[in-house]
Amino acid sequence: MYIRDTIAAVSTAPGNGGIGIIRVSGDQAAMVGNTIFKPVYDGGLVSHRFSFGAVIDAQTGEKVDEAMAVYMKAPRSYTREDVLELQCHGGWVVVERVLSVVLSCGVRLADPGEFTRRAFLNGRIDLVQAEAVMDIIASKSEAALQLAQKQSEGILSKRLEDVRLCLLHALALVEAYIDFPDDDLGDTDTTAILSSVGEARRIVADLLLTFEEGRIIREGISVLIVGKPNAGKSSLLNRLLNENRAIVTHIPGTTRDIIEETISFDGLSVRLLDTAGIRQTDDIVEREGISRALDKISQADLVLAVFDASRTFGPEDQMILDEVADSRVIAVLNKTDLPQLLVLPDEGRFVSTVRIAALSGEGIDLLKQTVCKAFLHSTATDSREYVALSKARHRDALVSAEQSLTKFTGGLRDRNLELLALDLRDALQAVGSVTGQTATDEVLDLIFSSFCIGK
Ligand code: GDP
Repeated sequence: MYIRDTIAAVSTAPGNGGIGIIRVSGDQAAMVGNTIFKPVYDGGLVSHRFSFGAVIDAQTGEKVDEAMAVYMKAPRSYTREDVLELQCHGGWVVVERVLSVVLSCGVRLADPGEFTRRAFLNGRIDLVQAEAVMDIIASKSEAALQLAQKQSEGILSKRLEDVRLCLLHALALVEAYIDFPDDDLGDTDTTAILSSVGEARRIVADLLLTFEEGRIIREGISVLIVGKPNAGKSSLLNRLLNENRAIVTHIPGTTRDIIEETISFDGLSVRLLDTAGIRQTDDIVEREGISRALDKISQADLVLAVFDASRTFGPEDQMILDEVADSRVIAVLNKTDLPQLLVLPDEGRFVSTVRIAALSGEGIDLLKQTVCKAFLHSTATDSREYVALSKARHRDALVSAEQSLTKFTGGLRDRNLELLALDLRDALQAVGSVTGQTATDEVLDLIFSSFCIGK
């Protein structure tokens, strides 16, 4: 439901900053500006012009802070309502004080995401674009930001609109026959319907194929480093991080807990976890570390299994291979600067084998590229037209659309026309729920409640 009252909130992040922005949206925005903002130069607030002045407490006349104010008259604003933004000093006390004099004009504190929700409800953006706004703010990597920006520009929405138009075309043809129950679908119309639905299915199927990659771009991956003690796991972690985060010693068993850092490999966000060296041991603390490492193996998107290539393959190496048998693994053969003795059995089972010398950094770039290649398959992720599904909500809706279309196509020649029309409407409903055309209030509540206040 959309109550057209006027809302206000702090739009900058909590805490102290250079400037703080208080945003007001709704019919009363200009009234708020005229009540609590006194421009230095006469002329009042002019739409889309900044003016410098003071925020004052309307009750006491006291000056609260200096500020820049910009008034944006509807519909040329973020929400398509009248909007006032006040830029004041960025300390949390002053920002809260400005907010309180704004609220004292009789406007309401905004709910989380309510400005963006209004932009959606007023038709400025669709739901995919609204969610993308959130993703832009929460981006963990360059690639995630790029994908979110493309979604916010409407590239995914455009594909979904193409699907909708194909389905509406097919539905119109089917419905034309419902009005004439004695007629069968003619050959020409059957061909036209199949062609439209086929095109819609193709676009949906292509989008579904992008989901895994889109999710990985948006959320990043977790990469677990395992290996026997002294294989060079900590040295590798430090090389990947370019710092001395993990303690490197020649005494086996020094990393006893899990060390975690997030970094970016060619724009992909990677959560790196370095674990205790895996081996048989009587040391209780070390055993606990090993057990934690083993627990993490099944949760990781990728395992880097580090082997000391200067030693022959032994029972401890075999133990590692057994533990990672069900995982996606890159075998990392370390210490290639020393004479090579290791012969790794069954190399074919790994995603790849990369030879490195963690000490000198040899092979580290290749390892990073190999990790990226294992997850980002398309070469076009930075092209203007690249689009991918990145949210489970979108994927689930398109899977449901695909199922309805499969049912439709399978029954085209022998099912009742009313039922066929129902399949198409189900598919339209599913596609529309992604862009928000058919999303319920509960769905909107769920999506926007995860936004921050002020967005
Ligand atoms: P971890 O126990 O698996 O974390 O192993 P560390 O990273 O602590 O390394 C164990 C020992 O191997 C240290 O003395 C490192 O300096 C040494 N080491 C690590 N990588 C290399 C390498 O590429 N070449 C050589 N020669 N020594 C290495």
